[in-house]
Amino acid sequence: MVYIEEGGFVTPGQQICVAEEFSPGINVKMTRDNIIVSTKAGFVSYDKNKRIVYVRPVKSIESVNLGDQVLVETKDVQEKIAIAEILAVNRKPLKHKRVAVILPNVKTRQDLNECIGVGDLVIAEVVTLFSGVIGLSIWKNELGSVLPICSRCGRPLRKVDKVLTCFKCGNQEKRKLSSFDVSALEKWILSRSLPG
Ligand SMILES: [Zn+2]
Repeated sequence: MVYIEEGGFVTPGQQICVAEEFSPGINVKMTRDNIIVSTKAGFVSYDKNKRIVYVRPVKSIESVNLGDQVLVETKDVQEKIAIAEILAVNRKPLKHKRVAVILPNVKTRQDLNECIGVGDLVIAEVVTLFSGVIGLSIWKNELGSVLPICSRCGRPLRKVDKVLTCFKCGNQEKRKLSSFDVSALEKWILSRSLPG
């Protein structure tokens, strides 16, 4: 007996079929009642030649590749390196947050403290994946801080006569700003990843 047809979507624990014609393949298991259930979210697949049923998992976007554009939140900034948490990759939110490092500009050797701040939302590009460390660049025009945060009081900074100013406490700070408007953030944050 088949509960879920070829290509049907299942979640973990969902019954797929009775184990009479098909044996369990990957991402499924057999219960004591001889029913094959899914162990992952994905799509049911019947291999009629091998008489195996398995689940193709939902393609996750958890992988980060060279050249990807990412939205990050800065956690710590030092002179030569900044630590950031990746929130989204290529406009798709990450389910499990990942840590990356923002690398300094090799040409200008500018102090990173003058380019980004803790709490900033920053658009960056993945430029290295050496030893599993995700290295980011913010030096292209469209890259950099989209939502700079005041280091003194934590409110968003706004540009007044080319100077980033906090309307609350009057603090003035420097940033490498993205050419993206802050409204671009909406696309990054509101877009949702879809299965497939
Ligand atoms: Zn402030």
